[in-house]
Amino acid sequence: DEAIQISDMAHQMGVKASRLIRTLWGMGMRNITINNAVDVETAELVAAEFGYTIENVSFQEDEFIGAYEDEGELRAPVVTIMGHVDHGKTTLLDHIRKSQVAGGEAGGITQHIGAYRVETDQGPVVFIDTPGHEAFGAMRSRGAAVTDIVVLIVAADDGVMPTTREAIAHAKEAEVPIVVAINKIDKPDSNVGRVEQMLMKEGLVGEKFGGETTIAHISAKTGEGVNELLESLAVQAEVLELRAPVEGPAAGTVIESRVDKGRGTVATVLVQAGELHKGDIVVANEFSGKVRGLYTPAGKKVKNALPSTPVELLGLDGAPPAGERFHVVDSEKDARQIVSHRREQRRRKESVLSGPSLLERIKSKK
Ligand code: GDP
Ligand code: MG
Repeated sequence: DEAIQISDMAHQMGVKASRLIRTLWGMGMRNITINNAVDVETAELVAAEFGYTIENVSFQEDEFIGAYEDEGELRAPVVTIMGHVDHGKTTLLDHIRKSQVAGGEAGGITQHIGAYRVETDQGPVVFIDTPGHEAFGAMRSRGAAVTDIVVLIVAADDGVMPTTREAIAHAKEAEVPIVVAINKIDKPDSNVGRVEQMLMKEGLVGEKFGGETTIAHISAKTGEGVNELLESLAVQAEVLELRAPVEGPAAGTVIESRVDKGRGTVATVLVQAGELHKGDIVVANEFSGKVRGLYTPAGKKVKNALPSTPVELLGLDGAPPAGERFHVVDSEKDARQIVSHRREQRRRKESVLSGPSLLERIKSKK
């Protein structure tokens, strides 16, 4: 949905903007002014009146994520936990995070973070802390394909609920494999068999019933079965053969960002391709900057980050929204150019008048 500014168009065709506007008025677009933009269809019709055709020669940004899946080195899976409210998403994430923070990164400052990476005996696994499918949906609507595996958590004392079904639908639509975690097995009223029957009705048939779905039995509270769950995620990743190029400029997705009084913009990003270094020039949405510092989610300073690594990035000149892509560019000049192009594109979109396009108007007249 490109848009063309009236003033630009007049300039390009070498006609006065007022003439162009009068022509548009004559064609029925009564409320257009020099401050507006028109959609491409409208621009084509008007240009034809002046004997011109419209050609798209605009600056095109590279599609830099999504094309890499079969290339490069094996990488850790990125996992999102989904499920019905109170089935234990937060408890499970907390359990995984605590055991890891206590074990590996003592001395680090633990704070609220949007993503973290844990080491299992079978390999590393990355968790994105966006519990709930709204966040999953928001990310996806921005075009961010971050999740490789969904962990569907189902409470053993409650079973499949409406939100469980929605989560299954979301995962299927995104073509993301599901690993089931039946949670709260420590509770006396838990009934794993009943839940497995319910899951079967949703098309999730466990391996022990001849199906293909990995179903782990866990207690997020006591930690029972959690290691097995983590290991099955690492195994699933091996099956998926997740890969990413480790060389070249980094690219990835913003998980969350905020402006901190002392540290400036702190963006938690997931590196998905290439290697991110301190000192790199990064562009994300309409923001850019030189990477001043990189930290693990536990607060440890690092010099670089490879694919499937979440890091806190300091140095952006503003906070890009979650789900936006980031990428490294060659120079500050390139960064400025991309940012100003994006701002321009947004302004143009914002200045397009709402209502039917000229083509729609003409069609409806007939
Ligand atoms: P969420 O809404 O999915 O994030 O669910 P929470 O993690 O907030 O858990 C909801 C409630 O269930 C809390 O009171 C938890 O302490 C409890 N809970 C979560 N996992 C377990 C478990 O494995 N066993 C027991 N007994 N309680 C659990
Ligand atoms: Mg929760």
